[in-house]
Amino acid sequence: MKAYAMVLEEYNKPLVKREFDVVDPPRGEMLVKILAAGVCGSDVHMWKGNDPRLNLPMILGHEGVGQVVELSEPWVDVNGEAIKEGDVVIWDRGVTCGKCYYCAVKREPALCENRWTYGISTTCKEMPYLRGCYSQYVYLAPGTKVIKIKDKVDPAVLVSASCSGATTAHAFDMLSPDIGDSVLVQGPGPIGLFAVAFAKARGARKVIVIGGTKERLDMCRVFGADVVLDRYSTTQEERRQLILDITSGRGVDVAVEAVGHPLAVQEGIKLVRNGGTYLSVGFGDPNGTVTIDCYYDIVRKNLRYQGVWVSDTKHLNMAVNMVLSNIEKFELLVTDRYDLEDANKALSAMENRETIKSVLIP
Ligand code: ZN
Ligand code: ZN
Repeated sequence: MKAYAMVLEEYNKPLVKREFDVVDPPRGEMLVKILAAGVCGSDVHMWKGNDPRLNLPMILGHEGVGQVVELSEPWVDVNGEAIKEGDVVIWDRGVTCGKCYYCAVKREPALCENRWTYGISTTCKEMPYLRGCYSQYVYLAPGTKVIKIKDKVDPAVLVSASCSGATTAHAFDMLSPDIGDSVLVQGPGPIGLFAVAFAKARGARKVIVIGGTKERLDMCRVFGADVVLDRYSTTQEERRQLILDITSGRGVDVAVEAVGHPLAVQEGIKLVRNGGTYLSVGFGDPNGTVTIDCYYDIVRKNLRYQGVWVSDTKHLNMAVNMVLSNIEKFELLVTDRYDLEDANKALSAMENRETIKSVLIP
């Protein structure tokens, strides 16, 4: 059997359609047919050569939902359920070792020294080649944590749980708002939308979103945002005043940065109350530095600035359940579907912010 995949051979050049041999899954592995592959904002950064983790040529795509085609040996999912051929599955995009200091001692597998990620740190130079989701098939290696999906759900709707959903879940797992808290979300993309959903689910009273795209801000309202602020029709000072008015002059209890730009950090930390928390989720790749007034913005405020790097299986499970409990809302998030062959169009649309979430359907 042959299968094709969209291969990143050279940075800033279109992905190339390449054919691969589909062999019986190597020992301990599972062959999965991709039903939906999410186009993540960080795929654009990888395509541009801004992600230091890559090893070319490679098959992009770290968000996938698929159907099991063949198992080399018995597998169980994280719920202890046997996985059979034909099952629909989603998997933790990162594979961790369980033995290093971060896995075993500090219990922070997202920081595993040996973590590798489908569609990011994998190359298609080596057997069994298919390790990214911009492909008709993917091989899941031993140690991959899998969740079997028994609910009836469109794979395209579920797929964003694997990266943006899981990473946002990680942020809320690190530091959740208290019931009644005010939460600011900067950036209404997929991470921002998940942040609105998690903030509301965790009992936030007022959720405020700052963004620059009307369609995205409208969608934040559907996801439960109480106030949306368009950064093109408001000034930074107006936004600050409005947020102070809403929060009795204090600033928000928790802010979630889902932009990945230094200017957002500069604005956001000033909008957090004394003793509040700033969760920085948006920097998926290096994107410049920021000047912070340590006295006024951090120390004097007892501010907690928490970085959030990727996610682990707990967070994937949180995100999957968030989507499955809110399928109608997350259906809206999938604004564009492309054939796998049109992956280059999908990447361009993502780069130009013409889409909220694009999904490739092989
Ligand atoms: Zn480890
Ligand atoms: Zn991603």
